This record gives sequence, C-alpha cells and structure tokens, in this order.
Amino acid sequence: MNEGAHADVIEADVVIIGGGPAGCSAALALKGSGKKVLLVDKAVFPREKTCGDSIPAHALIGLENVSPGIYDSFLQKVQSVSFRSSALVFPNGSQIVFNWTLPGYIAERRIFDGFLLDRVIVTTDAQVITGLKVVDYQRVTDRQYVAISRGWKAWTHTSNLFSIIPGFSPAIFGCSR
Ligand SMILES: Cc1cc2nc3c(=O)[nH]c(=O)nc-3n(C[C@H](O)[C@H](O)[C@H](O)COP(=O)(O)OP(=O)(O)OC[C@H]3O[C@@H](n4cnc5c(N)ncnc54)[C@H](O)[C@@H]3O)c2cc1C
Repeated sequence: MNEGAHADVIEADVVIIGGGPAGCSAALALKGSGKKVLLVDKAVFPREKTCGDSIPAHALIGLENVSPGIYDSFLQKVQSVSFRSSALVFPNGSQIVFNWTLPGYIAERRIFDGFLLDRVIVTTDAQVITGLKVVDYQRVTDRQYVAISRGWKAWTHTSNLFSIIPGFSPAIFGCSR
C-alpha cells in the first residue's frame, strides 16, 4: 500500500468497492442511515459487461424496497422490452419454457447499471468516485484502510462497518468478503 505522506485521504463509515447492482443496492439501502458512504468503481460509467440483459421483476421489487419509486423510474428512463416467458433452447432443438407471473425486462446492462449508479448519485448522499481502481486493502487495529489507485486511500473508522466488494476477487485483497 502506498502510505505516502501526500496521499489524499477520504474518511467514510462504509466503503463500497464496485458500483454494479450489488454496490448500488448497498448504497441505496444505506440512504438515511446517517453513515458516510463512499462508493468507488474502477470503470467509468456507463460501462459494458457480460450479461444476458434480462432483469427479473423480483430484482426490481427488491430495488423498490431499498429505493421507493425506482421501479417507476426504471420504466420511464430505461429503454426495455418486457417479457412473460423465456426459454432454454438446446443444440438439438429441445426447449424448456418458463412462464413468469410477473413481467421481466430486457435492457442493456450498460444502460441499466448506469441508471442504478445515477440513482445513487441523485438520491443519496453517497460520495461516488469512478475511474479509480482499488489496488490494496489493509486492516489496522479498529480501522480499515482501503487504498485507491496511486496516492489515494479511504478509511473506515469502525471495523463492523466494512468494505462491500461486489464482483471483486477477495484474493486481490487477501481477505474474505
Ligand atoms: C454470461 C452471463 C450472463 C448473465 N445474464 C444475466 C441475466 O440475463 N440477468 C441477470 O439478472 N443476471 C445475469 N448475469 C449475472 C449478472 O450480470 C451479475 O450477477 C450481476 O450483474 C453482478 O452484479 P455485481 O454488482 O455483483 O457485479 P458487477 O456488475 O460486475 O459490478 C462489479 C463492479 O466492481 C468494479 N470493480 C471490480 N474491481 C474493482 C476494483 N479493484 N476497484 C474498483 N472497482 C472495481 C467493476 O468495474 C464493476 O463495475 C449474467 C452473468 C453472466 C456472466
């Protein structure tokens, strides 16, 4: 870790590493908790990622629980196609068809994930930093330090409020999630 004297330091109660759906959900859920939240993502949004682009209704219902109004906002802002059934199609032509009681949606993940991060920026007090990769992590007594890129670091003051590392290899940190 770079412990340079000139490092810019950000204090936070919770540091969220990764601004995908997991990290955004965590930031939205922490709204109103009184905790100072920092969310960091190495990518600049909107960013692409490998995905089938389907969004189950239950995912949106779950999001509605942590951020009331987000379901309607999704329907208004995110271009999508709704579906009521989907199928697994095998090379031999056989299929397994699933019929859903609630509609699911197909939307580009670049757009959907960008929408979620915008929701965090617009509706919460979380500080969001994109384009900076977390490169190291070290726990020191009752503090957790998170190094961010070169010369940057963030720390949490309490050990039970912690780094959330969605989509991130714990091996890089040398710690468990
Ligand atoms: C082939 C495939 C098809 C899929 N199809 C579907 C589907 O149709 N429907 C569905 O619901 N799910 C689908 N999934 C699963 C879904 O995409 C993921 O489970 C979900 O999006 C993961 O969200 P996440 O927030 O955990 O991770 P991610 O969205 O991957 O977010 C992790 C974020 O962490 C950031 N990050 C990583 N390392 C660092 C670092 N060192 N410092 C800072 N930031 C960092 C990344 O830039 C990224 O933005 C599919 C997955 C795959 C692989």
